[in-house]
Amino acid sequence: MSDDKLAPWIARQLETLLAQRGHAWLLTGPSGLGQYDLALELVRAWLCEEPSAQGACGRCGSCHAIEVRTHADLCLLMPETAMLALGWPLSEAAQSDIDDKKRKASKEIRIEAMRDAVEFSQRTSARGRGKAILLYPAERMNAVAANALLKTLEEPSGDVRFVLASEAAHQLLPTIRSRCLAHTMAWPQSDAALSWLREQGVDAVQAGVILRAAGGRPQDALQFFRSGTDAQAWVDLPRAMARGDLNVLKDWTPSQTVSALQKLCHDMLAIRTGAASRFFSAADLPAGGSMAGLTRWARTLSDVKRTVEHPFNVGLMLEALVSEAQNALNSGQ
Ligand SMILES: [Zn+2]
Repeated sequence: MSDDKLAPWIARQLETLLAQRGHAWLLTGPSGLGQYDLALELVRAWLCEEPSAQGACGRCGSCHAIEVRTHADLCLLMPETAMLALGWPLSEAAQSDIDDKKRKASKEIRIEAMRDAVEFSQRTSARGRGKAILLYPAERMNAVAANALLKTLEEPSGDVRFVLASEAAHQLLPTIRSRCLAHTMAWPQSDAALSWLREQGVDAVQAGVILRAAGGRPQDALQFFRSGTDAQAWVDLPRAMARGDLNVLKDWTPSQTVSALQKLCHDMLAIRTGAASRFFSAADLPAGGSMAGLTRWARTLSDVKRTVEHPFNVGLMLEALVSEAQNALNSGQ
């Protein structure tokens, strides 16, 4: 990511972190607030040949090497699926295994990648500005990988720095957490998030809807937009569910559907208890739905959430979900 695209709330946090010394940072907070962007900007600044207080210069050889994804002093530890999604090359061995269909891209940080990282941390810096290891999402490493990392964190060779970013820091070993300086990701003000979304090409009306749909998390909102999901479908969802209309869900995966219904159920319960809705505009929510009906629905949805990645039959599951939604939304007051 080049400087001009950096969201203002990320830029502010970057400055704060750069003003402090630390060889290992742990960025924590929920998804969608820009952990990966901040982590990458931090390592770009560390490795940059002419960094300023605001971060990397964006012009030097080091910045260019990161831009083209081939920096000898930067080691990324991410699940292979995340590496591929973010445009980072895999190790030759990993890529050829996947090309030869020996295995699928891993959703975890593999122990082999961690071993490469440990070796990397012991090498001399190629460009002379130290080395950096970026780990994201840090909770996606198993116990073996975590222990290998821990040794490196405890006895880092002089010139290696770490940034770990996590959306579930409570799942990390306490010993890893305690070796890092923690930074909690800041939530952007909603007008800053809205204008950033507009800069990314989202129109003003859609920006409001998708930011709300993402619970105020701008990066999640942008992902929602880029997935091609129609913002109008989000606005229509509550009433469509009250009518038992499946059509509105046609572009969504089962797991997106369940998470959308959980947000709807959350907002219906919030309204019933006199709180404000969070994900939908109150005007778009149906009038029905009893506390008992909605509470039952919330329980069903959290059960479904656990098995949604492996549904027995997607069509049947969707029909059942919509029918449950319709019942809950029309249950007596
Ligand atoms: Zn630079």
